[in-house]
Amino acid sequence: MAEILDGKAAAAEVRSEVAAEVAELEGRGVPVRLDVVLVGEDPASVTYVAMKQRDCAEVGIESEAHRFGPDVAQEELAALVDRLNEDAAVSGFFIQLPLPEGLDPMPLISRISPAKDVDGLSPESAGRLALGLPSLLPCTPHGVIQLLRRNGVELSGREAVVVGRSNLVGKPLAQLLLRENATVTVCHSRTRDLPGVTRRADLLIVAAGRREMVGAEHVRQGAAVVDVGIHRRQEGGLVGDVRFEEVEPRAAWISPVPGGVGPMTRAMLLHNTVRAARM
Ligand code: NDP
Repeated sequence: MAEILDGKAAAAEVRSEVAAEVAELEGRGVPVRLDVVLVGEDPASVTYVAMKQRDCAEVGIESEAHRFGPDVAQEELAALVDRLNEDAAVSGFFIQLPLPEGLDPMPLISRISPAKDVDGLSPESAGRLALGLPSLLPCTPHGVIQLLRRNGVELSGREAVVVGRSNLVGKPLAQLLLRENATVTVCHSRTRDLPGVTRRADLLIVAAGRREMVGAEHVRQGAAVVDVGIHRRQEGGLVGDVRFEEVEPRAAWISPVPGGVGPMTRAMLLHNTVRAARM
């Protein structure tokens, strides 16, 4: 029986640490505020932003949403980014993705000051991570590391296999695992013999975005398995990239979906906001 990597419990821990830090900073007259730029009416984006603002309220972080219609000009958003960079009352901010068609996110994300880049996705933040310089870390990969560490999973010297090489998850996760002194292999859609590679892993982290792709044949006995994937089931509820029922008996640790990486991603955004406020 695997030990469950309980993201809800670990995220609650992070939130209570953040709440204490926010109280301390506010006590010293340092405001903690997270702003969000939301463009268009994509229902998932609207829901995510509402959840993130609720999280802020829970830990005492002030937050403000800047909302625009889908036909807003790229230049108007760029001007807002510049204003938020300059505004001393704003600790950090992010642009909710995806942006509607016709808008290019990368030039906007590239304008965000590294000290306020709470998503950790700008080229400068990514470069600093790769070079081992201090930076705000991308929330999902950092959430994965925290989930493992807070459950006492040893990372140093272990064989880590990451499935997925996106800029959002796979690549920064590989960098963070290297920083933790794991030996890292990154797999992608062209990897030959995926089960052969993933079976080498002490730590198997799956972020392929393929519903229930990973089964028992991919997993070495006693591995720690983290499932980053999120897929909505037609019949309701969520599933991940891992076939939980099948993998759980082989693993020593496994993260569930829901209740694994998702809550950690949200918690790490709050953590980054406090770090940004300290900067
Ligand atoms: P992307 O689609 O950007 O990247 C998926 C990666 O997986 C790509 O590198 C792709 O390879 C690789 N891949 C796809 N199919 C296979 C395969 N059959 N074998 C091996 N590798 C494969 O996804 P994201 O990284 O943005 O997200 C991954 C998943 O995580 C999604 O389900 C997403 O919803 C979820 N997610 C969850 C979050 C959370 O908070 N829990 C936050 C962010 C994402 P290639 O590069 O060759 O195409």
